[in-house]
Amino acid sequence: MLLQNSRYTLGGMDVLGLVEEFGAPLYVYNADTIHRQFTRLDRAFSGIDHQIKYACKALTNVNILRFIRQCGGGLDTVSLNELHLGLQAGFAAKDIFFTPNNVSFDEVKEAIALGAQLNLDNLPMLEKLGQTYGGSVPVCIRINPHIMAGGNEKISTGHINSKFGISITQLDDIVRVQEQYGLDVSGLHMHTGSEIVDTDIFLQGAQILLEAGRRLKTIRFFDFGGGFKVPYKQGDKETNVEELGERLAALCHNEMKQRGSSFYACFEPGKYLVSEAGLLLVRVNVIKQTPATTFAGVDSGLNHLIRPMFYKAHHDITNISNPEGAVKPYSVAGYICETDNFAWDREMNEVREGDILAFHNAGAYGIMMASNYNSRPRPAEVFIVNGKAHLIRRRETLEDILRTQLVLDI
Ligand SMILES: *Cc1c(COP(=O)(O)O)cnc(C)c1O
Repeated sequence: MLLQNSRYTLGGMDVLGLVEEFGAPLYVYNADTIHRQFTRLDRAFSGIDHQIKYACKALTNVNILRFIRQCGGGLDTVSLNELHLGLQAGFAAKDIFFTPNNVSFDEVKEAIALGAQLNLDNLPMLEKLGQTYGGSVPVCIRINPHIMAGGNEKISTGHINSKFGISITQLDDIVRVQEQYGLDVSGLHMHTGSEIVDTDIFLQGAQILLEAGRRLKTIRFFDFGGGFKVPYKQGDKETNVEELGERLAALCHNEMKQRGSSFYACFEPGKYLVSEAGLLLVRVNVIKQTPATTFAGVDSGLNHLIRPMFYKAHHDITNISNPEGAVKPYSVAGYICETDNFAWDREMNEVREGDILAFHNAGAYGIMMASNYNSRPRPAEVFIVNGKAHLIRRRETLEDILRTQLVLDI
């Protein structure tokens, strides 16, 4: 978001103008940023044959999915509905991973019927797959390498207590099931958590995966997951994807020599592609002075952006209505009947009733984790492409909230 002539712009569009046109609260995404992030990652991994599978749970609007397809990406999905959205967005089924956790075998069967690439993470499911399909359906296996990576406990998925993946200590069992049914194990997968900044830890996990792969001759690829961190505030650490890409390519080329056969790599960025592309724009309803702080109460809350409350995540907040205002501390809080503070004593340009605040890094896990709590509608979404703003999801209404309710005659 650039400040030009004391007006904030995004993708060349005047941000306040977008609020005037589409209302608040409003999610806005900039296609240029998604393209920039895709290209940067693609280049970083150019040392090895690779595919980028967008982990779409971060933001699944079909227009975003189509844009990422045009960038050259595939998809990583975690539910049948995500898989259907991917197909609707024009992805070929073979370019879509289905990486579920704790779903029924019926869901897996449906994903197979749709032609997606399976990525399974438990032994009973592998047995069922073998019993039902023998070796006729290729399957990638999600391994838990037991490394502690990721920003915090809630977003770390590779540690010993994690529910995800098949433990690396059970590799013998994997090999046994593979041999028993002649499973076509097409790849091995890991996704060890979100917000990994330490390339050494990432490479440790990769090494474990590659070594496990030596026991499986049918492997065509290794999927190293996502979790690449982007900065959320000034001075924030981010994953050095160029360094990671270079070192990982070297590791893989070594491994190919060792195996005597080549393979390609997959990556599943979610946050990395869409986080910085998004803003959540909210209006200030109330300024409230208390003995502890000055609250700026806004027309949004944990029903629209739950990351600050759920993960204690930091989101930069800019008062785009008053860029020249004197800087003062404000605590930004939502309108939900819960303690939904977005920020405490945050330095901002003077905030007045009616001002529009912009939450940064709102592209990933923003609207997707939104709810109708307090019977509030979810915001609209706008996508800026080639200097034009398009409404890609209308604001919900009371009718939407009532739509699934059946009113009894009692
Ligand atoms: C959520 C998820 C990702 C993406 O994580 P980010 O932190 O958004 O990059 C990748 N792979 C799998 C299997 C996931 O569940």
